[in-house]
Amino acid sequence: MYEGLIQDLIDELGQLPGIGPKSAQRIAFFVVQDEHYNPAKLAQTLAAVREHVHFCSICGNLTESEICSICSDARRDQTVICVVEEPKDVAAIERTHEYHGLYHVLGGAISPIDGIGPDQLRVTSLMPRLADGTVQEVIIATDPNLEGEATATYLSRQLGYLDISVTRLASGLPVGGDLEYADEITLGRAFEGRRSL
Ligand code: ZN
Repeated sequence: MYEGLIQDLIDELGQLPGIGPKSAQRIAFFVVQDEHYNPAKLAQTLAAVREHVHFCSICGNLTESEICSICSDARRDQTVICVVEEPKDVAAIERTHEYHGLYHVLGGAISPIDGIGPDQLRVTSLMPRLADGTVQEVIIATDPNLEGEATATYLSRQLGYLDISVTRLASGLPVGGDLEYADEITLGRAFEGRRSL
């Protein structure tokens, strides 16, 4: 344990995901010692992100505008929507360059243990997007783990009443894994080999 400001900084850093006590300590010492590092820039960026970045009103992806760059891009294939859990999954899929349609970001996955049901996710806002008949296919690209599978099953039942093809990414993705960590080739192949639900 340290005291004063340095401990405050370690405590603040420790609240961030993926930063354990050792990393927090290492970063704190770096900030104290490195003369070339300008901490004001990080402070400004953190405040600016918090103020300006929010969720796209259509798909739930991150954006600084009302509507994100993907939803507002008329060149994207408007007939297919890929449903993912988090904005980071959109980024992972975009990196494959295999997919040119639209997205819908749920904001998580169904997890009864954590008290997360469909009402806690961006599910209801998906239905109006399918109403006018433009969308022909919904690709469910939730994580290949228990929560992701439960979410896929739920969505496929909900969408079963509609005249829309519902597909799930092919296996090849590591089971129990996180979409974000799949390499681009595996993720790209999973798209090509997607199966009907
Ligand atoms: Zn959007």
